[in-house]
Amino acid sequence: MVTDEQRRDFTGKVALVTGAGSGIGREAALGFARRGALVYAIDVDDRGLAETLAQSEQLDGSVRTAHVDVSDEAQVAGLLARIESEAGRLDAAFNNAGITGGTHRIEEYPTAEFERVLSVNLKSVFLGMKYELPLMLRSGGGAVVNTASVAAVTGPGGMSAYAASKHGVHGLTRVAAMENASRGIRVNAIAPGWTETPMVVANSRQNPAFAELAKKAIPAKRGAQPSEIADAAIWLCSNEASYLYGHLLVVDGGMTIGGFEL
Ligand code: NAD
Repeated sequence: MVTDEQRRDFTGKVALVTGAGSGIGREAALGFARRGALVYAIDVDDRGLAETLAQSEQLDGSVRTAHVDVSDEAQVAGLLARIESEAGRLDAAFNNAGITGGTHRIEEYPTAEFERVLSVNLKSVFLGMKYELPLMLRSGGGAVVNTASVAAVTGPGGMSAYAASKHGVHGLTRVAAMENASRGIRVNAIAPGWTETPMVVANSRQNPAFAELAKKAIPAKRGAQPSEIADAAIWLCSNEASYLYGHLLVVDGGMTIGGFEL
């Protein structure tokens, strides 16, 4: 009989986490390692990766870092080739790296900035899956989780590039789930709400009034800790989520419930 503990365990499994030098990605890399996985932690921020590596000491699993720009096809292909030659398999992939881009109305949004956000947030997820899925197939199956956002189901003013990229991540996730469900690979997405990562803490410092307003609008009256989002992503990759396919798991303290509090 398989115990609950075993269904959550990643011992002997190989996980890939992008954006692992900070925030949600770092917590996910550490979380997979705590559950026994060999984790490939990817980022363009070498100092951030070094910190993730330092925090991973003493955990059951182990972490290997790689400087990879997730929007560069040759680098992503090279990374997956390295994982196959070193570890021989891939069981879980968390395509999570992302940027917010600037905040401007559409008519003022710089086109180059729009393209940059789409490239880092959306093209990266396409490229990740393009090279992860074949290795997972050769490994006998696996699970992919892509990081969308509440901006995948809402229209935050000023954030056209970000919202378009995250709606796109949701769409790509559903297509990949459809194409791979019968091949032993589950593909899902998470939609974090306001999460207190360096990205958000820096924005809040620049615009404290907006930050206060945003927190008031969250029924839970607080932002998430990065580990609360990472836990949801790891759970989606685990055998406890074995019947979830093409799902967008919203983890937002109730931000997108809608309606009113009496
Ligand atoms: P973060 O800034 O703390 O971490 C993002 C990491 O991605 C950074 O370490 C950064 O160096 C890395 N990165 C950026 N561009 C990269 C590239 N081209 N190649 C490789 N790595 C790259 O931010 P976070 O809040 O942890 O964000 C993680 C994900 O969660 C993002 O996709 C973000 O859009 C999403 N998200 C965050 C929030 C939030 O409130 N923090 C809400 C919804 C969705």
